[in-house]
Amino acid sequence: MLYRRRTLSTPHGKLETPVLFPVRNIGKRSSDNTPEYTDEIPDLSTAMLNARSIRQREPQWDRIQDGQTLRSEMGVPKSTIIFADSGGFDFRSEELDTTPEKSLETQQAIEADILGTVDVPLSRENRERENDRRAEENIQRALAASDSHDGDGLLFASVHGYDPETIRNGIRYLEKNGEFNGYALGSLVPIRTDYEKVTKLILAARRATDKHLHAYGLGGLVYQPLLLYCGVDSFDSSAFIRSAGNRNYLIPGFGGEELRHIEDLEYLPCACPVCKDRTLDDVREDRDSLVKHNLWALTLELRRFRYMVEAGEDVESYLDLRFRGNEVTARAYKLAKQQVRGLA
Ligand SMILES: [Zn+2]
Repeated sequence: MLYRRRTLSTPHGKLETPVLFPVRNIGKRSSDNTPEYTDEIPDLSTAMLNARSIRQREPQWDRIQDGQTLRSEMGVPKSTIIFADSGGFDFRSEELDTTPEKSLETQQAIEADILGTVDVPLSRENRERENDRRAEENIQRALAASDSHDGDGLLFASVHGYDPETIRNGIRYLEKNGEFNGYALGSLVPIRTDYEKVTKLILAARRATDKHLHAYGLGGLVYQPLLLYCGVDSFDSSAFIRSAGNRNYLIPGFGGEELRHIEDLEYLPCACPVCKDRTLDDVREDRDSLVKHNLWALTLELRRFRYMVEAGEDVESYLDLRFRGNEVTARAYKLAKQQVRGLA
């Protein structure tokens, strides 16, 4: 197993890893917003933000430039550890409207602790040559960010590739030619149903560097244990928001149940502060409650894994059970196990 515990020092405090960064939407439509959770979930003093979208929200961006802090705008504690990605994910087809320098400027203005370099995602449909070009451009953008970065935040190079060699070579090249505190693997979301491929890419990255490794967008219930096993140090997720939008009630270990399947229950199968004494109908009618419960479910998944490791339990047996219900993820886990053992 490549799982590891570390402490990451950031400008806003020490962060115990592995850790989840919940995607924090503070968008125009309040129905997409993330309800406040830092007060309730002590191990989630973290947030993943999109730097580009913050810069586009004019009244707020003006206030920040006038000296207001983003943390006070968001109403979160000063100690909240913010990972700001570039927002490159919004550019699947259109022209990129930001530069490495502009993105850094935004990330520094919002006092982000972790700064992801500008990246344009690969496309599952794109031809190999186009994806190779994008992967190479992302590397050049990361190097440009490394050249202009002189602030306190940790700079994570965003790395993309749909084969292990591209990932490995990209990280080694960046390691040699730039200065980065960690690496963040992108473009995994479009291929997330190909668990075996994602596992190979993650392991390639993990072998190419000993620095902090983040996986963009894969912090949902199914991926978490797989990523932890492969030694990923952090991940982010908006699964708790999206699931709530679909009325999905996440249950750790089950990968998500739809509420209608448990309609006859008076009380919910969860003891989190949201669910402990409420009825199904009560939670169902309240989107924020469902979002919060789902975030608790993601948190519990991580806590359980940590517990299994700390208690000296056989993690591989735990994961055998954990993945037994799904043939596809079970195969990916088996592959990870073989590759990880091959490393030993
Ligand atoms: Zn709950």
